[in-house]
This record gives sequence, C-alpha cells and structure tokens, in this order.
Amino acid sequence: MQLPFNPALGKVPVYQPGRPIEEVARELGLPAESIIKLASNENPFGPSPKALAALQKALAGLNLYPDGNAFYLKEKLAEKLGVKPANLILGNGSNEIIEFAGHALLSPGTEVVVSQYCFAVYPIVTRMFGADLVTVPAKDYGHDLPAMLRAITPKTRIVFVANPNNPTGTLVNRAELLKFVKAVPPQVLVVIDEAYIEFLEEPADLVPLVKSGAHPNLLLMRTFSKIYGLAGLRVGYGIAHPELAAIFEKIRQPFNINLPAQIAAMAALDDEEHVRRTRENNLRGLQFFAKELKRMKLEQVPSAANFVLIRVGDGARVFDELQKRGVIVRPMAGYGLPEWLRISVGTAGENERCVAALKKVLDFPAGNN
Ligand code: PMP
Repeated sequence: MQLPFNPALGKVPVYQPGRPIEEVARELGLPAESIIKLASNENPFGPSPKALAALQKALAGLNLYPDGNAFYLKEKLAEKLGVKPANLILGNGSNEIIEFAGHALLSPGTEVVVSQYCFAVYPIVTRMFGADLVTVPAKDYGHDLPAMLRAITPKTRIVFVANPNNPTGTLVNRAELLKFVKAVPPQVLVVIDEAYIEFLEEPADLVPLVKSGAHPNLLLMRTFSKIYGLAGLRVGYGIAHPELAAIFEKIRQPFNINLPAQIAAMAALDDEEHVRRTRENNLRGLQFFAKELKRMKLEQVPSAANFVLIRVGDGARVFDELQKRGVIVRPMAGYGLPEWLRISVGTAGENERCVAALKKVLDFPAGNN
C-alpha cells in the first residue's frame, strides 16, 4: 500500500461495539429469538411506541431529502429545554457531536483531558485528529475532577466528563461538577456528556449555565439512543452557546439527521409514558442487580445509569460462557478492566435470565440466599 495516509490514523484505537444478536446467533447456531442483548445500554422496552407510529406515516416521504436544519425537531427540543434553537446542534448520534468538537479544536500538538475508564469514543476522536490524550487516574472508578483541572495545560483544547460515566456508571457530585465547569479556563471546551441523564431522579441541571451565556466554552451532550429507545436511528444533540453551536454547524454534513430520525425523535419527546416506564424499570433493575450481585459476593460499582459494572474474575471467559447461554454482555478488557463485565439493565425477565446464567457460569448455587 503506497497511499500516504494521515499519520494520525496509526494511533486510532478500534471501537468494539456490543455484539449484534444476529451475529451471535449465526456464530453459535442459536435461534435469534433465544438470545438477549444486554451489551449496549439500549432501551429494553424498544423504541417509543409514539415514535414507531409516527415513523410509519413518514416512510412514504423517503424519496425527499430531510430538512437539513431539522427545524421542527430543534424547535421542539428548544421548547422542552427552555433554550433557543440557536443553542442546539444535532448529530448523527452524540458520537458525531464528539467528532464535531475534534474538527473544531484538535490538531497535532494539542491535548484532550479525560478520566481513566472514560467513554471509548473520546480517545478515538482525539487520536483521529492527531491530538494527545491526557488520562487522569480515576477515583473510586469515577472522575477525579480536581485532578482533571490540574491536568489542563496551555495545550489543552477539550476536557470530557460523562455524567453518569460509561462504562462505570459513576456520577460526580453536583457541587463539584458546578465548581469544575466554572473553573475550566475559557479557552478549553468542557464537554459534559449527559447520554444517561434521563435515568437520574434528580439530575444536576446545567442548562441554566448555558442559558446564562457566561460559559461559551460549555457543551452539554444528550442522545435519543438511550431512554428514548432510538439508538438505531442515530440522533444526539448538543446544548451550547449560540456561537459554539454555529461553529459546529459549519462542520455538520447538510443532511446528518435523516428523515425518519427527525420524525421519530419529535414523537419520542412527547412520549412521557415510555420514558417514565423505562426509568422505573431501570431503577428496579439496578436494585435487582445490586441485590443479586451482593449475594454472589461480586464486586460492583454503584451505578446511576442503565448498566452495571461487575467484577467476575476472568472477564473474557465469563463473557464467552454467558454468550453460549444466549446472554450478550460487554467485556471490558478494552477499557483496561479485564476482570470486569458491563451488563445493561434489561426487562425484569432478561435481568433474571442474566443473573441465572451468571450463577451457572460462576458455579454459584441457584436459589442460594
Ligand atoms: N456518550 C456516552 C457516555 C455513551 O455511553 C454513548 C453511547 N454508548 C454515547 C455518548 C453515544 O451515543 P449515541 O451516539 O448513540 O448518541
């Protein structure tokens, strides 16, 4: 190969997604219906029924390009959040917003500050633009915000904080978070990734900080992939100062949010029942896992999100054994946690099946109290 590739690409890590049900079914010769996927923090109740109904109607319009500015979706989101449409930037999943940040600010010689066990896409985007990654050791598996502040140098362009964090499920203290956001120097973009915020009972609300206009370097990121159950459609959004949103608009492809995605996201915003039901199921699921894992004497990180991180010993082996039993979870070696697995909260039945399979694999007597 003689092509003079961008040298930065040599250092880009590979993203390892949760394994799709069909792939595992093919590989193991199992019927797809017998497999459950608790590997990508998706909504176990499926897409919002209101979104599905709206999608059916929208399909006849697929010959037309979508509204490139997603006018109605932005209007609706802005109203819900109490911001202006100019405060919003839409992405093909919030992953795309992370990439916008890279395009806007990163180049060789610049730095990005993250926490140990941060979401895998931050390092990927950092490397893609040839920037250097500064990884701050975690504290109790979560962010050490004062240490992250100290890691900021004149070369720093972006600092990422996912709250709750994926894959650890940890949540930073509200007062500390506010202090942190205010202390980050104005020439550094502070990204607070709120992909799982809707699962929290009392989330720290940073939208007023954006609205105040006093923090043009603050970007909040959210997604329709998790509680709204639309991961397959790819819609995420950023909430920021209008000048920052306008910069990101320059980078955005003209039709990055497809037509069904716009329609479904709007309908999902109206589906409060689906959100409430999902949140309640999640809280019960978290309690179930916490209780069962404690019985099994497995170490776990207390989670504020829709997944649990548990220490099983040989993560790769337990992942394989669970998969053979039709339960797909997420191995964590890529995050530097080879002894751990991440399990997404499913329906009550899926959670029970997962725990039963885990007991078999780890030789824990079923029904043991
Ligand atoms: N941020 C975090 C913390 C996540 O866990 C995820 C999904 N795994 C994303 C962003 C990206 O989500 P999406 O691109 O589907 O919006």
